[in-house]
Amino acid sequence: MSEVNVSREISRLIRYGLQKGLLTPMDEAYAVNRLLAVLGETAFEKQEMEETLENPAEPLTRLCDHAANRGLLSPDTQDARDQLDTELMNCLMPRPSEVAEKFYALYREDKKAATEYYYGLSKASNYIRTDRVARDKQWTAPTPYGDLVITINLSKPEKDPKAIAAAKNAPQTGYPKCALCRENEGFQGSPNQAARGNHRLIPLTLCGEPWFLQYSPYVYYNEHCIVLSAEHRPMKVSRASFEHLLDFVTVLPHYFIGSNADLPIVGGSILSHDHFQGGNYEFPMAKAPLRESLSFPGFPGVEAGIVNWPMSVIRLRGEKKEELVELADRILQAWRGYSDESAEILAFTGETPHNTITPIARRRGEAFELDLVLRNNRTTEEHPLGLFHPHGEYHHIKKENIGLIEVMGLAILPPRLLSEMELLREALSVPKKAEEIFQRPEMEKHLTWYRELKAAGVNAENAEKAIKDSIGEIFGKILGNAGVYKDTEEGRAAFRRFCGSV
Ligand SMILES: [Zn+2]
Repeated sequence: MSEVNVSREISRLIRYGLQKGLLTPMDEAYAVNRLLAVLGETAFEKQEMEETLENPAEPLTRLCDHAANRGLLSPDTQDARDQLDTELMNCLMPRPSEVAEKFYALYREDKKAATEYYYGLSKASNYIRTDRVARDKQWTAPTPYGDLVITINLSKPEKDPKAIAAAKNAPQTGYPKCALCRENEGFQGSPNQAARGNHRLIPLTLCGEPWFLQYSPYVYYNEHCIVLSAEHRPMKVSRASFEHLLDFVTVLPHYFIGSNADLPIVGGSILSHDHFQGGNYEFPMAKAPLRESLSFPGFPGVEAGIVNWPMSVIRLRGEKKEELVELADRILQAWRGYSDESAEILAFTGETPHNTITPIARRRGEAFELDLVLRNNRTTEEHPLGLFHPHGEYHHIKKENIGLIEVMGLAILPPRLLSEMELLREALSVPKKAEEIFQRPEMEKHLTWYRELKAAGVNAENAEKAIKDSIGEIFGKILGNAGVYKDTEEGRAAFRRFCGSV
């Protein structure tokens, strides 16, 4: 690797930090010296330049190259580079209390300005690596339930074997307890845990309890935030969840918020730490209208109905939070114990519970809205990964859990799919190549899909769009698999039976 001019790259970083408002000219000498300390350097000469960087990736990469040349990264893995460049960015940043003070100073005047500031800071600090997020592919696809959004996530770097080995050999310290704990703020990182030197949290009070707001470093949608309890305690969907969710949309009315379900298979990937996900984004499910209305006696102030959606969603809307919480809790209690063998819904196997809810809250003007998505995590011989989970015939597209984000109509699909889509497109465009393409091990699973598209007349002209639309259609069917009540006459009747039983 070529020689790196350290003074120049540090000057670029400082200029970037000043332009993004991470620091002020008064902080400059301090920040330069902190950067030198992290790099183990002692000499600096300021370089003047005229440039405006979108993100700090370039100077950071050059400084990581320099550290690698000097043998400071061993082994030289992406994790080691992420750890170093995160420490470098931290040298440009305000302390947590300064960030929180600024957030609340803005909040008192304008709630949106507060979240805009904090989101901007999370990107400028490289906590959200915008250069990586920009690699994600996203498109919308029409379905009978409205346009669904499909994302192929390319921003989470795949671990290289050296990093996996380092993680395996690293001591398990149990600190921080998990990836969501607030103790990650400023954490240097380890082979098992992400570098969070540039991470800052905003303290929140929900229902009188301490919580924190942060953004997801992978931002699957605009202002994708995570709201976590100060205490490391397991996820639990309960009356308190409804209270917390509705309190959150009181604190930040321009954000929606939802919780993953609290059981494996139908929950998110982290069940060990109580948390929600929200943001400034309107999901396809939020746009879906009611397909029938419901009435719950004793709740005259609550409008209720079943949402026109492939999963089973009860929507409640009202002005009074207490009334919504009361009814939502009643529905949750009823669902936890509800079985209907004719619809294959069993609440328990022995002592093991299967029924839970994925709840989502948002504002509609002054009113509060709660979507309650009924979930069941039972497995059967025919569907060993889950009866209400993507079925085997769709595993070539997705076999992972349908969590909160996907429930609402945004698919997060694995990176492998991108190259497989390209091969599929090639096979449909140049039929004589098809045989060879489907001999590749990763393409075998797509053969039936290929035949269906081919039979539908897909060719070189329309292959790319047809494949994207087809993925959207399959995602819609996967959501139907995850729905406890199917969108059929019998399914709708069974859904009404449950609502009546509440
Ligand atoms: Zn935790």
